Amino acid sequence: MKKYTITVVPGDGIGPEVINSAMQCINTVSEKYNFSINWEKHIAGEVALNEYGSLLPTETLSSIRKNKFALKGPITTPLGKGFRSVNVELRKKLELFANVRPTKTIQGIKTNFSNVNLIVIRENTEDLYSGIEFKESSFLSKKLIKFVEKDSKLKIPNDSSIALKTISKTATKRVAEFAFAYAQKNKRKKVTIIHKSNILKYTDGLFVSEAEKVSKKFKSIICDNLVVDNACSKLVSKPELFDILLCPNLYGDIISDLCSGLVGGLGIAPSANIGKSMAVFEPVHGSAPKHSGKNDVNPSAAILSGAMLLNHLGEIKASKALEDAVYSVLKEKTNVTYDITPKNPVSTTEMTKAIIKKIKK
Ligand code: NAD
Repeated sequence: MKKYTITVVPGDGIGPEVINSAMQCINTVSEKYNFSINWEKHIAGEVALNEYGSLLPTETLSSIRKNKFALKGPITTPLGKGFRSVNVELRKKLELFANVRPTKTIQGIKTNFSNVNLIVIRENTEDLYSGIEFKESSFLSKKLIKFVEKDSKLKIPNDSSIALKTISKTATKRVAEFAFAYAQKNKRKKVTIIHKSNILKYTDGLFVSEAEKVSKKFKSIICDNLVVDNACSKLVSKPELFDILLCPNLYGDIISDLCSGLVGGLGIAPSANIGKSMAVFEPVHGSAPKHSGKNDVNPSAAILSGAMLLNHLGEIKASKALEDAVYSVLKEKTNVTYDITPKNPVSTTEMTKAIIKKIKK
């Protein structure tokens, strides 16, 4: 019997509830498909700060480095104050450079569209999202303003906060290579590069030109590009036009939440953060503090992230069985949470039990 050791990081807010659901489902499917998972539990985020005085303890990073794969819950990042994102730190430290976020129509969930099947592949380590910022009136922001104004004709108001948008050839090339190889392996037809290079000629311009260079090596995959504002308009009117969307970090973050709305919301949106030798699987949604401890959120996003993990491990049949169990419960709509039905919603625990019952050999 195959044995895997996987790091599990429950996270903050609703994280422990949905990750617990995912672990139960994965344990059930593993029994049926003759493999076993040894979960190595570690913490990060607010819990870790309270317990170890560190948001991202070395033990957590070491465990992921050793085991190569992790299932992770969402981690809270305070708005506009406090610490920087632990998620950004984790993705950078482990070089998880590609964030894969699939979106597809699920039978039974009523939305405005009936045939969405697209994947956002987001560069995960740089761009504005990496959070290199200088506070208004700080020593460094004043120095930076002086430096820029000295050698250019540009003027920057003195009372500005500043964020740096960095897009490198190296990071663009590796995520583009990943996206086109992913398209080829998964029999996808088209990769659309998302950008705003009409305005951001050097940063987004470089993203487009490097990705286009990579596309030349993949003759069977159509490559086109679209400015991000136009892409948003098309996504909410004709999502069927899209196949794979290759995005810089910030646009990818925003667009993937938009995409989850096309098919039923954040409660059903899974994701994978992939690096050269490691991968961390997590729901797209955050820690939803208002729902924390209420046992009322949808566990599907976390369970489907677990299915992506199993697929990545090569347990293809088990992964499919888990996906099918989730889709079947969503389709029946009798054991689903509030986000899927306003009428008699069930708890996270009840929905999890219903999914477990549907897992077939
Ligand atoms: P959120 O995704 O946590 O929640 C937004 C809303 O979506 C919730 O109020 C809820 O109505 C709904 N929702 C989310 N998950 C759901 C689920 N499983 N089932 C049903 N409904 C669900 O976004 P937010 O409120 O903007 O962020 C809260 C915190 O999470 C912030 O600190 C943010 O930084 C963090 N966050 C973390 C991650 C991550 O760890 N990868 C991702 C996004 C946000």
